[in-house]
Amino acid sequence: MEFVYEALPQRVLFGAGRRHSLADEVRRLSGSRVFVIADTADGREIGKALADEPGFEVVAMWHEVIQHVPDSLADRARQAVAEDDADLVVSIGGGSATGLAKAIALTHAIPIIAIPTTYAGSEQTTVYGITGDRHKQTGKNPVVQPKTVIYDPELTLGLPSRVTGPSAFNALAHSVEALYAPGANPVISALGMQAVSAIQRALPTVMADPTDLDGRADLLYGAYLSGMALGATATGLHHKICHVLGGTFNLVHADAHSVILPHAVRFNAPVLPAEMAMLEHALHAGPGDAAGALWDLAVASNVPTSLVQLGLAFDDLGEAAARATAEIQVNPRPFTKSDILSLLVRAFAGDRPCLVEPGRSRP
Ligand code: NAD
Repeated sequence: MEFVYEALPQRVLFGAGRRHSLADEVRRLSGSRVFVIADTADGREIGKALADEPGFEVVAMWHEVIQHVPDSLADRARQAVAEDDADLVVSIGGGSATGLAKAIALTHAIPIIAIPTTYAGSEQTTVYGITGDRHKQTGKNPVVQPKTVIYDPELTLGLPSRVTGPSAFNALAHSVEALYAPGANPVISALGMQAVSAIQRALPTVMADPTDLDGRADLLYGAYLSGMALGATATGLHHKICHVLGGTFNLVHADAHSVILPHAVRFNAPVLPAEMAMLEHALHAGPGDAAGALWDLAVASNVPTSLVQLGLAFDDLGEAAARATAEIQVNPRPFTKSDILSLLVRAFAGDRPCLVEPGRSRP
């Protein structure tokens, strides 16, 4: 066995009620002027409580957060940070809140404490994304990785089902692509498959009872491990297609993941027998049926399975295929624009992906 794994440094606190440790963590990082980003009611409450704590000042409560971080929003938030002379950012919310904090850290080099309330996993990565002119520009920089992450499953109890299901699929996508993306290694694959099993076990239960705290903890733990998987690897075909669907066609990020993932897995499965065996094991799927099992999980969890449901027009598929083809740098299976278009057409229809035998692709 031979591999390279570059573990990212970070302090993580996990558990119900852990949000109450936030003030201690601010003091631990010697924050004196704290810029809070919070777009949910829970987040605003946490920000207010933080303002009553001794040893530092909350200089701003920023509520405006938009998916894919439009560059105009990033510019305004950065200007506010400069005017407030902030030296630490606390982000409470989903990947959009974390993403705005990262945009600030990118130019101001100040530390982030993240309290994620969805399963997007951005808090585990050095990846940032900023969108302008219908194009999402992503990059990697260690300065944007949160120094401390507080996972508190109680904060996810109110996450609406329409966000919960797709967001869990966003996490699944990180762990699945980490099996074969550049940077893949056995440590990360093991963590990722643990995440896949935890999410598959918990998601239908949580969708049936959103207040199931144990199930919520399992999903958040799966999201944490999946974020680590994303942070340790590069993104492949699946993520690039989703970035195009979000950045260019403004589809909801997590929704795009839930629709595309089974079809991306189906496309790559023929050239990944060992990786698919691991995924089948984690999903309790039959031989050649990992993609189908992901689709079954989507159906069982009532998450979108077709691009039609997300409101994409059939006429947009050609532009989406062209843009995604230009963006995908690496993929285990060689592809052409017409392969990506076929994948998108399948995702548009949203049918269950068929069984795939290793070494043999289906038309
Ligand atoms: P989001 O942050 O936009 O949240 C979705 C919705 O859920 C929002 O309306 C938000 O206010 C609400 N919400 C969040 N937590 C809630 C809670 N606990 N209770 C009630 N409502 C809540 O969506 P997301 O899917 O978490 O993040 C998507 C963004 O994250 C995209 O821009 C994506 O590109 C980015 N992302 C980046 C990375 C990375 O590594 N850089 C990784 C994953 C996702």
